[in-house]
Amino acid sequence: MKTHIQAMNSKERFLAALELDAVDRVPLFYQHLGAAKWLLQNTGLRIRDGFHNPKTFAELAMAAYDMYGFDNVMAGWGDLLVAAKAHGMEWKFPERDFYPRPTKYVDMTEIDNIQPVDPLEDPTWSVLIRATEIMKDQIGNEVAIIGCVETPNMIASEVVGMENLLMGCLMDPDIIAKLLKTITQSVIRYGEVVNEVGVDGVFMEGSMAGGEMVDVSMFEQFDGKYIAQVIDSYKSMGLNVLLHNCSEQPFWKEQLETGPTAIHLQLSSVPISEVAPAVKGNTCLIAGIEHRELLLNHTPHEVKVAVRRTIEEWGRDPGLIMGPGCELPYRVPLDNIRAFRESVEQYGKM
Ligand SMILES: [Zn+2]
Repeated sequence: MKTHIQAMNSKERFLAALELDAVDRVPLFYQHLGAAKWLLQNTGLRIRDGFHNPKTFAELAMAAYDMYGFDNVMAGWGDLLVAAKAHGMEWKFPERDFYPRPTKYVDMTEIDNIQPVDPLEDPTWSVLIRATEIMKDQIGNEVAIIGCVETPNMIASEVVGMENLLMGCLMDPDIIAKLLKTITQSVIRYGEVVNEVGVDGVFMEGSMAGGEMVDVSMFEQFDGKYIAQVIDSYKSMGLNVLLHNCSEQPFWKEQLETGPTAIHLQLSSVPISEVAPAVKGNTCLIAGIEHRELLLNHTPHEVKVAVRRTIEEWGRDPGLIMGPGCELPYRVPLDNIRAFRESVEQYGKM
């Protein structure tokens, strides 16, 4: 017998999927400030102003909800560097409409001086927290508000630079462990702060965990261990964790063991037929449709075909969310975003 599911709003739908409960249709996940071009065009706002003004930051994030109609907003974008900057890295804004870029990493000899950061006390990180409060206030009853942070390992790679981090793991593992411990404290503090604001979950960018970058034992020693500490802490507060990994050879099985509420993978790297049996009944899957080619350059029809195939392969079981494989590229055509949403509404309807 088919039980009828009453129509849900975005927030109810998103949370039900995370909790592996029945939904009226498969929810859609929106990442960072995907397809930013149209949001900037429509609002007349600038990315760099968002980092100084919580209202601007929130307006841009909420514009994505208005224009694209996915089931969450993300209280964090461009933030791959915000936490790193809070730990001493320096950045600049080289382009009018794009994210900041690192200009100066922290010297390896300075690692000892790096202290844990309270996001509320950091001039930039706190802007994101204030923006989260604005979003929670304005649309928090209808749409899922998702916080955003990176794994300690990824933040470390932006604090000292990726090459320095990898070299350090080999040459001086103790000092890297110290750095990771410090950053882990800041990331845990971030969770406390946004939990207080009332977010519905935290997206954690964990794409350093890929075979193209490290091997499994390095992942365990310098990455997985700290992810598990953060997730334990977040879950003890009742916070959902959406662990993201868009690497080419993701260590998704190892990441599943760290206990996230949801895992977000690109299906071009991991076929859904492989991952579905491993997650069903335990962990929500955010199935990532290929974004750098398919969503960016192909036709709306091809997008629909991919969505349909993915949902059919998954079946009718609960615990599926659909999203792009990573943040939608800057200028993904609006027609493709629409095709993506409409096909999830059509084929993901229960
Ligand atoms: Zn990604």
